[in-house]
Amino acid sequence: MIEKFKKAGYEVVDFGNLADIYVINSCSVTNMSTRKTRQELSKAKRKGSIVVLAGCYAQEIIDKPNILNADVIIGNEEKKDIVNIVESYINSNKAQYVLNVSDISKVKKYVQKDKLTKGMNIRESVKIEDGCNNFCSYCIIPYVRGRVRSRNLDDIVEEVENLVKSGVGEVVLVGIEIASYGKDLESSISLIDVIERINKVKGLKRIRLGSIEPRVLTNDFIIRLSKVEKLCPHFHLSVQSLDNNVLKRMNRKYTREYVFDRVEMIRKYIKDVSFTCDIIVGFPGETDEEFLNTLNGVKKIGFYEMHIFKYSKRKWTKAASMIDQVDGNVASKRSEKLIDLSKESKKAYMRNFLGKKIDVLFESYSKGYLYGYTSNYMKIKVKGDKMLWGLQQKVELCSIEGDLILGKLSQ
Ligand code: SF4
Repeated sequence: MIEKFKKAGYEVVDFGNLADIYVINSCSVTNMSTRKTRQELSKAKRKGSIVVLAGCYAQEIIDKPNILNADVIIGNEEKKDIVNIVESYINSNKAQYVLNVSDISKVKKYVQKDKLTKGMNIRESVKIEDGCNNFCSYCIIPYVRGRVRSRNLDDIVEEVENLVKSGVGEVVLVGIEIASYGKDLESSISLIDVIERINKVKGLKRIRLGSIEPRVLTNDFIIRLSKVEKLCPHFHLSVQSLDNNVLKRMNRKYTREYVFDRVEMIRKYIKDVSFTCDIIVGFPGETDEEFLNTLNGVKKIGFYEMHIFKYSKRKWTKAASMIDQVDGNVASKRSEKLIDLSKESKKAYMRNFLGKKIDVLFESYSKGYLYGYTSNYMKIKVKGDKMLWGLQQKVELCSIEGDLILGKLSQ
């Protein structure tokens, strides 16, 4: 949307600055995100400007848009036409809000993004699909983002090539559910085919995978992945729980044993791999014993980082009407336990690499220090010249400083 406004001659300013038009691109994955969206809408409205609500929350409030402080409301599919829609509103008498939200469940095609302008980061996300068919019981995303739509592979590769030309060294493949890539296509291509194609892009240094659903980790996937030389050995698994009863109630279609088995196989085939994950605590009906299964399970795997979410009731989902909602204090305590464990296991993982020499891709520079990541996602700080920004260099890892490792440039 930024690109579209720029191309139409608008100047894009920081959200805190005074502007003629404010665009709030909304998420509605949790109740908290919708609350924040409403707060931002009222803040923007108080400035007397034109306020545009775009994205998932717009999809959700189709039936009652007039309760919002928005002049223009557009859905996910209409983002590509944002400038025209806003300009028609400006040219109208502005007596009434404009609602332009299509039924996402009927949208079958991936909407191409505009080509991005140069001068961006060393690491950039590349969106390869939209939507999800999984219908986890706590999640509203399939309703507001629609079913899986895979992006054309040639377009993905072209975007990666363009990013590389503008200095990007690492691409992160993202989407709502990238493991489902290809499910909507007539050809039999899947996520691994996308990765293998991108691996051939000249000049690209690294490919990182965004969050993946464990079921994609078949033997064939892991074996082919182990031969992709630009692949970062870092897997962010959307595990959510490691208790089989909770997984069932969540409508997640794998078991804890399956996850353990896949982790073991990846470790066998891919060196120095790190695992990170998302976990939801306090899911309806989660007993102490079920939580303990998750706690012991994550200990067993030894995740490098864990993103812990306390379950929050999401209207219109199956889980919202489940009896046995877990008390907020209990969920908080469980969350704290996992956060403490996450800190410990992160340090333990980092300690394994002290004294070793590892490639680091420098992504930023500040006050005499370069900052970057190893391929397995450890953050590294090194004293060095700004000229090295954007390059990949060998670094000897010396000591742990909070969340990162201090290193020195190696020959
Ligand atoms: S796989 Fe992810 S996006 Fe899809 S329903 Fe489950 S939690 Fe939501």
